[in-house]
Amino acid sequence: MRVALFPGDGIGPEVIAEAVRVLEVVCGDAIEYDIGLVGGTAYKQTGHPLPPETLEVARAADAILFGAVGDPDCDNLERALRPEQAILGLRKHLELFANLRPATLFKELADASTLRPEVAAQIDLMIIRESNGDVYFGEKGMRKTATGRREGYDIMSYNEDEVARIARVGFETARARRGKLCSVDKANVLETSQLWRDVVIEISAEFPDIELSHMYVDNAAMQLVRNPGQFDTIVTGNMFGDILSDQASMCAGSIGMLPSATLNASKQGLYEPIHGSAPDIAGTGKANPLATILSAAMMLRYSLGMAAEADRIERAVAKALENGARTADLGGKLSTSQMGDAVLAAL
Ligand code: NAD
Repeated sequence: MRVALFPGDGIGPEVIAEAVRVLEVVCGDAIEYDIGLVGGTAYKQTGHPLPPETLEVARAADAILFGAVGDPDCDNLERALRPEQAILGLRKHLELFANLRPATLFKELADASTLRPEVAAQIDLMIIRESNGDVYFGEKGMRKTATGRREGYDIMSYNEDEVARIARVGFETARARRGKLCSVDKANVLETSQLWRDVVIEISAEFPDIELSHMYVDNAAMQLVRNPGQFDTIVTGNMFGDILSDQASMCAGSIGMLPSATLNASKQGLYEPIHGSAPDIAGTGKANPLATILSAAMMLRYSLGMAAEADRIERAVAKALENGARTADLGGKLSTSQMGDAVLAAL
């Protein structure tokens, strides 16, 4: 198997290093790695956040393990050259449209959640975020109003095929879980959302065994902290999913715990922690590598056909937590590499 490794910026290289240590123990020679430049690091060395060589490595790989991108030095560059374009570009070029973000509370971390432990203990949900369309990919720009005032605009749109394919991923995922799918939209205000809701209802005819419900995004944000246990699988658009999944992560303890997968139709996937490059802690050894280690486990399961190895990694993470291993974000003192050591010891 060929895995493209894109460490990126900030804490990206630090957390990727720990995931690779774990993969080397679990998979040995079964995986070969090709390293590529992305983000601010790539911009500084090549003049582009997603250079053509990196895209080539990505296309040739069975899966991509991605750290994070984002560099404050690059915040004033024109948008097309900013580090974040690397991730958007990979999603677009490889047609990675289905972003799967599980949020499960490891029982050992019940006290790290900002929710009351009995509420937090119920969290076991999967958020499926469409990641190839919506307002992030629409026409955007700055213009002047008739009175000469500055105006920014970003166009939100989905076509029915885009909604249908992500809806099917939602129904199939719910089928492999507890059989409940909640579609989140803002159909009371947005035409894009009205089409979303209509198409999800049409596709539901193919999945009569799945219990479908609909929720407005503002209510969903509230329900996620009020009673997260009511959710099994959530399917939603790119922007709403971006926000709700970060919220779910905090409910589950820390943003440093949550993995994600973004798949295309041929199940080639990009795997990454949901957090960013965390420039505030980069280089201090404070980053929690578990989200990236758990992303590597998802990669083994969804793209490389190594479910047993994925289970081993997830069990080792649970064991390390059970043994008391905690980085600073979880209220402990372990450094990034010490957390990696704890997972290796559990393996
Ligand atoms: P962030 O996720 O980088 O950080 C938010 C907060 O969480 C920070 O306080 C950070 O220290 C903490 N944090 C994040 N990951 C952690 C970890 N593994 N262990 C411990 N603490 C952790 O989000 P931000 O600060 O909004 O963004 C920073 C940069 O990352 C920006 O340039 C942004 O555009 C970029 N970003 C990239 C991605 C990506 O690569 N997919 C995702 C989100 C943000």
